[in-house]
Amino acid sequence: SGILYIVATPIGNLGDITHRAIETLKKVDKVCAEDTRNTRKLLTHFGIQADLQALHDHNEQHKIAQIKNWLDAGENIALVSDAGTPLISDPGYHLVNELGSENYRIEPIPGASAIITALSIAGLPTDRFTFEGFLPAKSVGRNKALQANAKETRTQVYYESSHRIDDTIAAMHTIFGAERKVVLARELTKLYEQVFRGDLEGLLDWINADPMHQKGEFVLMVDGHEEETDSDAINSSSEELLTILLDELP
Ligand code: SAM
Repeated sequence: SGILYIVATPIGNLGDITHRAIETLKKVDKVCAEDTRNTRKLLTHFGIQADLQALHDHNEQHKIAQIKNWLDAGENIALVSDAGTPLISDPGYHLVNELGSENYRIEPIPGASAIITALSIAGLPTDRFTFEGFLPAKSVGRNKALQANAKETRTQVYYESSHRIDDTIAAMHTIFGAERKVVLARELTKLYEQVFRGDLEGLLDWINADPMHQKGEFVLMVDGHEEETDSDAINSSSEELLTILLDELP
């Protein structure tokens, strides 16, 4: 049977498409895309003609059966999303989960993803990090999720859109505290790429300083909560003791 290729596309700058992505998109029998109009533009840019098929969250289950039939008939299929790597806050999970468990051949064609691109320039610890994707849309759910992460010691990576970036930063300011270190990457690889580095107090000022700062696509990276180490605890208790003793001295 055929192969399902999971193909990454650029997150902004079309120059970031890989050689293998182009070769793969040219040779496959069908390209499944989140938004066929958007992908048509991308393919046209690279002179690729393809049989485009829509695969989004609303028709994924139905489409899986069709894709299996195509693969069984020996066709090769590519899955792409609007930008970056499929399945990373994008459709494709059910497809890969089901086909993977049925031992269909699935091959990655790696390329850009906003999370790794952003981490590579953040200067926050990357030896361990958590990917939080998009926060819940409603404020109650969002605040709950942030509260659950308040003591997380690893770097946290959030995706955010222009609609909610200011509210999200304000909520983080309240829940994580003004002094928590953050890096905000905006419009990566695009014309108006911008990176803010500082603390949540500074970021809250920056995001409200200019309406342009709230436009576009964002990756928000939050430094981990500093764990109080045993020696910190000992230091603070010995400091307390010292204060008491000093008060007692004549
Ligand atoms: N599959 C994509 C990936 O691999 O990164 C992510 C798709 S998700 C629907 C879109 C979100 O990714 C945006 O809201 C933003 O948080 C982030 N993103 C995508 N492109 C970006 C860029 N050029 N600069 C900053 N963030 C970006």
